[in-house]
Parts: sequence; C-alpha cells; structure tokens
Amino acid sequence: MADRKTSAEVILAKSAGFCFGVERAVNRVYEEISKGGSIYTYGPIIHNKEVVSDLESRGVRVVETPEDIKKIDHGTVVIRSHGVSRETDRLIRESGLSCVDATCPFVKRIHRTVEAESAAGKHIVIVGNPVHPEVIGIMGWSSTPVTVIQSPEDIQKLDDFRNSELCVVAQTTFNAKKFQDLVDILEKKEYNVLCVNTICNATHERQSEARSIAARADIMIVIGDSSSSNSAKLYEICRRECARTFFIQTWNDLHLTLTGAEKVIGITAGASTPKNIIEEVYDHSHRRGSRGTDHRCQTR
Ligand code: SF4
Repeated sequence: MADRKTSAEVILAKSAGFCFGVERAVNRVYEEISKGGSIYTYGPIIHNKEVVSDLESRGVRVVETPEDIKKIDHGTVVIRSHGVSRETDRLIRESGLSCVDATCPFVKRIHRTVEAESAAGKHIVIVGNPVHPEVIGIMGWSSTPVTVIQSPEDIQKLDDFRNSELCVVAQTTFNAKKFQDLVDILEKKEYNVLCVNTICNATHERQSEARSIAARADIMIVIGDSSSSNSAKLYEICRRECARTFFIQTWNDLHLTLTGAEKVIGITAGASTPKNIIEEVYDHSHRRGSRGTDHRCQTR
C-alpha cells in the first residue's frame, strides 16, 4: 500500500503480518473463548507478547509440557500452528480433554511425509533449527531416529547413513537457497536422497517483498516480537538493503529523527504481528511523514 499524499511515500508490505497458518490458529483460540470453558494452548499460540497477554486476560492458559496436560482435568487444548509430536498429539487426544488442532496444514503435510517415509525405512533428515518447536514436533512423527542439519558442516552427521535412503524435508521457514545448497551437496556426495521441499511460500513471499521495499526505502521499519525468529530474519534482510532499518515490537519502540530528505518509508512485519499493531505503525508513520515543512520531527 502506498500513499502519495505524504511528502515521504509510506509503503506497507502486502505480506506484512499473520500468515494463513498463524491467523487460522489465533482465530481458533478466539472462537473457543466465545464458546466459554477452560482453554489452554500448548505453547504460546504465537510469538507475540501482546496477543498472548490479551488471551491471558481472557482466561487462556499456556501449557508447555506433557506433564502439564496430565494435571488438567477438564477443558480444551489448542495445538498451535507449529504442531506437536505424535506422542504429544496422542496424549492430548487420549487425555479426555477436547482438542482443537490448529497445526498449519503445511506443517501437517510434513508430519504425514515423515511418518510415511520413516515407516518405509528411509532415514529422515530435517533441514532446520533443532530447538525450534516446529522441528521438535516434526521429529516426533518419525518412527526412526532423525538427523537435523542446518549448515554444510552438519552434513558429516550423516556419515553413518551413507548406504541408507534419505528423506530430506525442511522447516517451513527455512531459507530456500540454503536448503537447495544443502540438497545439492548431498547429491554431489552421492547420497540416495528423496528431497521434499516443504518450505512455505508465505515466508519466501514476505522476505522477497521486504527485500524489494527496503532496497527503495530511506527508512525501513520491521515490526515483530523480539522472540520471533522470522521477524529477526526479516530485519536482517532489510538491514542489508537499507542502513536505517528499525526493528520494533510496537510504535512505542520507534525512536528516529526524520531529516526531511526521506522519500520512502517502508514497513513490513513478521508472521506473528497482529494487524492492529501494523495499522498503528502505518498510521503514525503516515502522519509524521506528512508534517509539511517540519521534517525534523522526533518520531518518538
Ligand atoms: S509460515 Fe507457512 S507453514 Fe508456517 S504457519 Fe504460516 S502458513 Fe503455515
């Protein structure tokens, strides 16, 4: 979105904010709130403190472990978009609690692939961050041990599987180029590889759009929670294109001085940033950018 009424053009990325999977999961929690009863999410529903606090104020509790589930005697547990392992999934469903499975369908597809290919005897390789909840969940759908890699150096972990068939999948938010580079190395080393590219387009589209806006921008604003890895990645991408890139959680975090020479202010946001926070930043940037002659305004 661009508005040329301002002296600086403010461009808000179309892909800013909740992706399909996160929006679906958050909506499912609000639907459950409207029905009443005790509601729990297995892990914070998204990496955004504002949303999690809002849910808390409406009585939603976060549970973190299978032991926490065992202590609950009634209510509904919502599985977030990252998904959970097969064991945790079974525990929730067999606990007598209601289960709302908001695992993103793209993540669910990885679970199904890993389940089927490990059962068929392939060694599962996940390209991703081994401590990320999505990756931990995916690992839990394999019936055999899994190797997680994220760099060329990690490929040596596969030395023991030289004669095995490998099924390689990716964490949905993994960098597409790095994924392809790793698969190319495995193929060059003549591993027997079935590669299933499970990277989600939402991430790729958000990153490409952010890169192209940042390349034109004098100031680039990335909105996201400090614990959100996809927002941090967006910041990194934008920072490479635009030296004046700011990473903020809400409008209150933005401290910058406009020189008056800015022609373009770009805004993007990570997948867990709610619409109202994005709109607030857009509205303020728009107003500050249109201050006529006084462009040395302090934008907080
Ligand atoms: S980034 Fe993609 S895979 Fe992950 S929750 Fe969003 S839509 Fe689903």
